[in-house]
Amino acid sequence: MAEVNPFESLQEQLSDAAAYVDVEPGMLDRLQSPERVLETTLSVEMDDGSIETFEAYRSQFNGDRGPYKGGIRYHPQVSRAEVKALSGWMVYKCAAVNIPYGGGKGGIKLDPRQYSDAEIERITRAFATELRPLIGVDKDIPAPDVNTGQREMNWIKDTYETLEDTTEPGVVTGKAPESGGSAGRVEATGRSVMLVVREAFEYFDRDITDATVAVQGYGNAGSVAANLISDLGADVVAVSDSSGAIHDPDGLDTQAVKEFKRETGSVTGYDGATEELSNQELLTMDVDVLVPAALENAIDADLATDVRADIIAEAANGPLTPDADEVLADRNVHVIPDILANAGGVTVSYFEWVQNRQRFSWTEQRVNEELERLITAAFDDLTETYEARDVPNFRTAMYVVAMNRVLSAADEAGVFP
Ligand code: GLU
Repeated sequence: MAEVNPFESLQEQLSDAAAYVDVEPGMLDRLQSPERVLETTLSVEMDDGSIETFEAYRSQFNGDRGPYKGGIRYHPQVSRAEVKALSGWMVYKCAAVNIPYGGGKGGIKLDPRQYSDAEIERITRAFATELRPLIGVDKDIPAPDVNTGQREMNWIKDTYETLEDTTEPGVVTGKAPESGGSAGRVEATGRSVMLVVREAFEYFDRDITDATVAVQGYGNAGSVAANLISDLGADVVAVSDSSGAIHDPDGLDTQAVKEFKRETGSVTGYDGATEELSNQELLTMDVDVLVPAALENAIDADLATDVRADIIAEAANGPLTPDADEVLADRNVHVIPDILANAGGVTVSYFEWVQNRQRFSWTEQRVNEELERLITAAFDDLTETYEARDVPNFRTAMYVVAMNRVLSAADEAGVFP
């Protein structure tokens, strides 16, 4: 599969949307480039006393609508181009669901499975120390992403608060409830995936209880999406992770698979499945809904010609290349874009931040209701633009909505100095 640079994918998506938006070329250049990127080398002591270095990044892409917002991932594939792309996607994600944030993203290039918990803590605190001057409750607010979670967010909060000699839980979101985390945050990404699938079935006047679903990736986003979509009455017939895919034409017990993965580390080997498949086979299965919930570039143009799903809901960020998008649009496969489908995570991060600032907590029911309200409103904005304008696909429709929001904020602010 040809290497696709995710930053070039972001720029292409923005150019595609710009064709339907009143934006000057200079302004488009500004919207296509990050405002600031921190690239740093962390030096961390390992358990055996040796020193190891790690490449780490934080990109602050655009702050026209509010503080930079976005996760931090730990993965061997982390690169400057990837972090820049992911931070740009956050800008348009926050604008799509209309929450008052710009976009940012960070990452450390490492495979966390190779390090002890104590080493991961020292690596995280070293990164938090580098980030301290850049982040802040009104400046830039990190959150979990691939291979990070409550534990890492608690450490970042603690490092920041210790160095700043203050209490400021809203400097980072996705924390454990005891550290100021919100009810419903862990499930939020998967919940928005479920909500957009439900809305799409309503929009196309189809019955979700007749639907079959395949989910690629069984981390936090994929496994929660699988559970909640199966709660709607659909059959989740296949799921996968980096070890491979499992299939049961009658539908898998998604919760049991999650427990199996928690115990063994992978979905393969689960004995409630009828067969094991490759990830490639899962992505081209004859299902109604495909949920890519792993990393970028899972589906390129070649693979897109073999996709047999009718609807794709992007739980991952950037799982389709721009060329794949074109192939799928020609083949009438509807893609619910990442900037809407997985926006539940950052939306509940926003609720967490609001609660932290008010020193007040909401019930899970309130969180889920407010989340549903914002996601369904954004879905309606998408379909309204899709119908009113001659855009090629749902992604461009959502970008047009989001780009107009970013542009009006930029326009009202004017140019400084
Ligand atoms: N990492 C998540 C995303 O890609 C969540 C970001 C956040 O909560 O700030 O949307």
